[in-house]
Parts: sequence; structure tokens; C-alpha cells
Amino acid sequence: MDLYALHEKMTSHLFPVYSNEDERFLALALCGEAGELANMIKKRWRDGVDLSEEIRDEIADCRVYLELVAKCFGIEGAKLDVRVEQKLIKVVEKHKARLWANEQARKHNAECEIERLHGKARLP
Ligand SMILES: [Mg+2]
Repeated sequence: MDLYALHEKMTSHLFPVYSNEDERFLALALCGEAGELANMIKKRWRDGVDLSEEIRDEIADCRVYLELVAKCFGIEGAKLDVRVEQKLIKVVEKHKARLWANEQARKHNAECEIERLHGKARLP
């Protein structure tokens, strides 16, 4: 599905041109839709009502604006998928060092505990 062509075809007569192209408008619109989504989820939680259809609509609204913002920065469609993968690799690399340090600390503490249990003194 060409989301951009579909959006243009269905909404171009309704809104000014900048609403499809201006990153400032699109970023604000995305935040507005994210707020609507959060509000629906809040009401679902607070009131125990089924707003699943409304929530699905808001998710679709978020996607439209996210994809349009992505297009402003040249990473629309499949290019956005590639960018997501690249970003996830960065996240894993960032947290790998933290996880490694935590694992080393856990091993050290376990060794200290074993030595303590065997009556050997060792400073942590
Ligand atoms: Mg909406």
C-alpha cells in the first residue's frame, strides 16, 4: 500500500498542503494523535470500557503522521524498516556493556559469598 498516495488522494482537498509536507505541522499532529491514543487507553483503564476500535483508529492516525514525518527525512516505507533495525542494533550495543558489567558484578558477589561461607575474608 502506498500510504502517501492514499493519504494525498483522500485528504488533499480537506487540508492545506503544508499538512502533508511540513515537518513542524506533522510533528505536532503526531503528538496530537499520540495524545488521543493515550487518552483512549486511559479511559479504557479507568472506566473499564472497551474502546478497542477507537484505539485502533488512533494507532492508524499515529502511523499516518509518523510515516509522513519519516518521509520528510527520507526514511519512509521500507527505508524506515531498515532504520528501525539499525536503531535496535545501537540499543543492543549500548546495553550490552551495561549487561556485561552487571554480570561481572554478579559473579564477583557470588565469589565473595562463597568465600565468606567458607570462612575466608575477602574485601568486595
Ligand atoms: Mg485521531
